[in-house]
Amino acid sequence: MEHRCEVAVLGLGAMGAAPLYQLAKAGVKVTGVDRHHPPHTQGSSHGDTRITRLSVGEGAEYVPIVRNSHRIWRELEALSGESLFEQCGVLVMTSSPSYDADDASDFTHRTLHLAKTYGIEHEVLSAAQIRERFPQFSPVLDTAVGYFEPGGGYVRPERCIAVQLKLAEELGATLFKGETVLHITSDEQGVTVITDRRTILADKVVISAGMWSQGLLGKPFDTLLKVCRQKLFWFELEENARFAPVSPTFIYYHGPEESNYGFPPLPGEGSMKVATEQYSEESSPDTLDRTVVDAEARDMFDTHVRGKIAGVTSRVAKSAVCAYTVTPDSHFIIDEHPSLKNTLVVSACSGHGFKHSAALGEALAQWCVRGSCDLDLSAFSLKRFAE
Ligand SMILES: Cc1cc2nc3c(=O)[nH]c(=O)nc-3n(C[C@H](O)[C@H](O)[C@H](O)COP(=O)(O)OP(=O)(O)OC[C@H]3O[C@@H](n4cnc5c(N)ncnc54)[C@H](O)[C@@H]3O)c2cc1C
Repeated sequence: MEHRCEVAVLGLGAMGAAPLYQLAKAGVKVTGVDRHHPPHTQGSSHGDTRITRLSVGEGAEYVPIVRNSHRIWRELEALSGESLFEQCGVLVMTSSPSYDADDASDFTHRTLHLAKTYGIEHEVLSAAQIRERFPQFSPVLDTAVGYFEPGGGYVRPERCIAVQLKLAEELGATLFKGETVLHITSDEQGVTVITDRRTILADKVVISAGMWSQGLLGKPFDTLLKVCRQKLFWFELEENARFAPVSPTFIYYHGPEESNYGFPPLPGEGSMKVATEQYSEESSPDTLDRTVVDAEARDMFDTHVRGKIAGVTSRVAKSAVCAYTVTPDSHFIIDEHPSLKNTLVVSACSGHGFKHSAALGEALAQWCVRGSCDLDLSAFSLKRFAE
């Protein structure tokens, strides 16, 4: 079977659903392929919540991207009638015995600095103000410092993907779900994609295969990318738990190397999602252990919740596993494939990509249509690793 299109998008998680939609919106004959049936729970985009914030402490280069994403989530909400972006605010804070007020590398400091530079609405909170405004984070140390951004909050990943795929289809996109891409070649005429069902001939291709990228993309991605298993926990709330009426999402540094992040209890759930990040243990799509054992839940509660988040019990309502695909510097790779023509790779969003996905979709669509994009994505090029 042979199928022709102008652009093929390979992988329809966060990073694929967005360009698929934007390309269809631009009137491009676009086809999306996914080995599963997105939104699904096998990749990195599942669940109900992903934090978003305008002051992105990971780097100034991300600020214009996330700004565009916030605009696009609202546009998608208006088009679909779905609620995608909950602006409950975000609290980034450091309450650590090792805290050094002069340490410019502290994530809360970096976030604060960026907010000032970019004129992002925020408040700086002292320990007393954190205790008063957000009693769930008590006790914090007297040296604690908080950054509160009212415009941040969380986006709903599976809904965002579902909405963009649906709108793309309505605009004429073709979707091949449950179909695996096996091989990609290119020449001056275009790109040939071999799947387990057909051959797709495209003028251009966007590859957004998440943690499967290493295998699909070959060199140099096979050595640059690392898949890291992450665990998520939903701890049951105490009966009389005190949460502010509108509780924020949070990123909480509480020790030299210790941090967690989490979300306000969602209506009707009776639990609070808290998670951490790890980059030392490597996994792969085939070996990823998707079960969470009791010892991991106990360790999470003892290290990251007990004495740090009030109103939460050690009872685990639910747990889950997800994977980060990280680069050596934890930044993104968005670049043309070095040995495939007309092929753009967006991958390895290193565990912080969702908030940027809508805007990256718009930028990638512009690249496909006119060979350049409004956003400056040069910071994410492959050449930084060669240098
Ligand atoms: C636990 C966790 C928490 C996170 N928290 C945040 C957060 O708070 N804020 C934030 O901004 N970001 C966060 N992120 C990061 C964000 O979710 C990811 O960067 C983003 O979802 C990655 O999307 P993706 O499209 O690259 O990958 P995926 O969603 O995994 O999509 C890849 C797709 O490619 C398909 N595919 C792969 N190989 C093939 C093939 N050969 N043929 C066909 N299809 C293929 C897969 O089926 C899959 O659907 C978090 C990630 C995790 C795991």
